[in-house]
Amino acid sequence: MNDLLIRRARLMDGQGTVDIAIKDGYIVAAGNNVAGSARQMVDASGRLLIPAFVDAHTHLDKALTATDGGAGSLEAAIEDFQRRSKDIDKNDLLARGRQVLRLALRHGTTAMRTHITVSENLGLRGIEAALELREEFAGKVDLQVIAMFSGPEPEPAPPLKELLEEALRLGVDGLGGAPHLSPGMQQWVDYIFELAGKYDVPIDLHADETDAPSVASLEYIASKTIQAGYQGRVVADHCCGLAAVDEATAGRTIAAVKEAGLSIITLPSCNLYLMGRNDKGLVRRGVTRVRELQAAGVNVAYASDNIRDAFRPFGNANMLEEGLITAQVLQMGTPAELEQVMKMGTYNAAAAMGLQDYGVKVGARADLVLLDATTPAGAIIGQVEKVCVIKGGRVAVRNDKKSDIII
Ligand SMILES: [Zn+2]
Repeated sequence: MNDLLIRRARLMDGQGTVDIAIKDGYIVAAGNNVAGSARQMVDASGRLLIPAFVDAHTHLDKALTATDGGAGSLEAAIEDFQRRSKDIDKNDLLARGRQVLRLALRHGTTAMRTHITVSENLGLRGIEAALELREEFAGKVDLQVIAMFSGPEPEPAPPLKELLEEALRLGVDGLGGAPHLSPGMQQWVDYIFELAGKYDVPIDLHADETDAPSVASLEYIASKTIQAGYQGRVVADHCCGLAAVDEATAGRTIAAVKEAGLSIITLPSCNLYLMGRNDKGLVRRGVTRVRELQAAGVNVAYASDNIRDAFRPFGNANMLEEGLITAQVLQMGTPAELEQVMKMGTYNAAAAMGLQDYGVKVGARADLVLLDATTPAGAIIGQVEKVCVIKGGRVAVRNDKKSDIII
């Protein structure tokens, strides 16, 4: 007997409706009139079934630290968190992280990657809390923890290096940072690649999150990725500077990004709030060249970044909401473009995070969301309810008002 049978679901790029049978956490059959009984049944009634949302870039250590309003600039937000870091204890980190993860699951996100700061002020408290949350939410939200470090010094200092080695020994999933914030950007990138290679973990870096027309760190990360044989295991985030450079520089950089097999994550909601604040006349919006990157065949995802902290005082851990913001700022509004946006928050984000067996197909893990819409466009524009969220083949969340959907 199957564990769950979803009847009459509409898929993102399919015609008509299908039945989906789930057993032991995986999709075992998909098609018309799938036979067999199941312990639980969901009548989708033609609604849209998507693979669950993947928020591939958040900061759980910062989330909900500034619920009454944000800072006035990126620099001020970084300072704000550094100042708070000394007093943040593990219980506070756990409580805020838990709140965001619950909210995210309610909104259909079942995989998330969080960057967690490792610094002198915060020590490893953020990492320890995130690793505990990874355990606590196992089977609900698959959490990947990236140890993130950066600083104004020309290269990482020995005490910080010790903390990072300890974070890796504790079991973080990867290494990250914001090397463009240091005058010794290349030394920081070199060190991150060296350490990641030593522990065989993926890399996920904030790149050129700046108003300046600069692709210095993105170009360097791309060349370093090839040199280290790390193609397919590196993500570059933000890439705001790429939006501000001339066409020739952009074209050259995008070709390098493609060759290095980087995934790019754009964080429109956060960068719209933070960037271009001193521009007069031509106001930059701080969002990278998504269309050009996609046209070159680069895997591009969107994610939430900051949720109600000094970096961005908005956000509901809701990837469908982030999708609407992404669609509006990128002017992606045709049905085909909105389907592409939906894929950026699901398939593309899953690829950036290296998730295996992802999708709505036989053999994929049954992490699914049933949306109260029939098309991606309808779901994004209508900001519709997530009727139910299925994690590992079980109904994890029900938001349906009609009780006849789940039988
Ligand atoms: Zn970030």
